[in-house]
Amino acid sequence: QHIREDDEIKQLQEEYGNIKNCRDIKTFDDFPLSRKTRKGLIDNKFKVPTEIQKQAIGPGLNGSDVLGASKTGSGKTLAFLIPILENLFTKKWSRMDGVGAIIISPTRELAYQIFETLKKVGAHHDFSSGLIIGGKNLKFEKSRMDQVNIIICTPGRLLQHMDENPLFNCDSTQVLVLDEADRCLDLGFSQTMNAIIENLPTDRQTLLFSATQTKSIKDLARLSLKSPVYIAPHEKS
Ligand code: ADP
Ligand code: MG
Repeated sequence: QHIREDDEIKQLQEEYGNIKNCRDIKTFDDFPLSRKTRKGLIDNKFKVPTEIQKQAIGPGLNGSDVLGASKTGSGKTLAFLIPILENLFTKKWSRMDGVGAIIISPTRELAYQIFETLKKVGAHHDFSSGLIIGGKNLKFEKSRMDQVNIIICTPGRLLQHMDENPLFNCDSTQVLVLDEADRCLDLGFSQTMNAIIENLPTDRQTLLFSATQTKSIKDLARLSLKSPVYIAPHEKS
């Protein structure tokens, strides 16, 4: 089993240099994806990627930062969850390795929806995930934070853990996702987001999604992204 997985990882890594042009992507099978992720997609009847998924998953897999402009309902969740699962899978991330990915979402409801999608699509992987969204028992959250591989959170609550919780260590973070970043800023989280980003290791991958491209989003992008790939799919109507 382990030798098979080592071979699979080696093959995936070779394929990352050779990902099809997004115009030639017809189904999720056109991406180099682990068997565990492919199974999670099939189980949930995800077959044809949406436009943002076609454009963002390739750069996400080969480790690039991404700045994506994309509306609600365009399928952003899988556009970042798939690269996260594959990044941690190819690094053989285990529960012992701590926080591997952090997804920041503006509201509890949106964070919860991402968590539900991760549980479905990531079901065959062995990563632990946790919802850190406030309004829940802080002590319980604190005691479990050191065991969580993929954190889905709202900005204020994450910064509270960074500031107050000695068990929380994000030094190993491989991937940061800023989902609906413009809404995070609209809700007044600008300083909180900047403080979070400053607390994270700089050699991470960052995927930033926003429906609008304002000056404050450009500032956030400058602070958080390194030579990003820009993605702005045209909506088909
Ligand atoms: P966004 O975050 O951009 O608002 P979501 O990721 O929440 O969009 O996706 C919107 C809806 O589309 C969800 O119900 C999701 O299950 C569905 N969806 C996403 N990607 C696909 C896909 N490739 N095929 C079919 N349905 C999809
Ligand atoms: Mg979303």
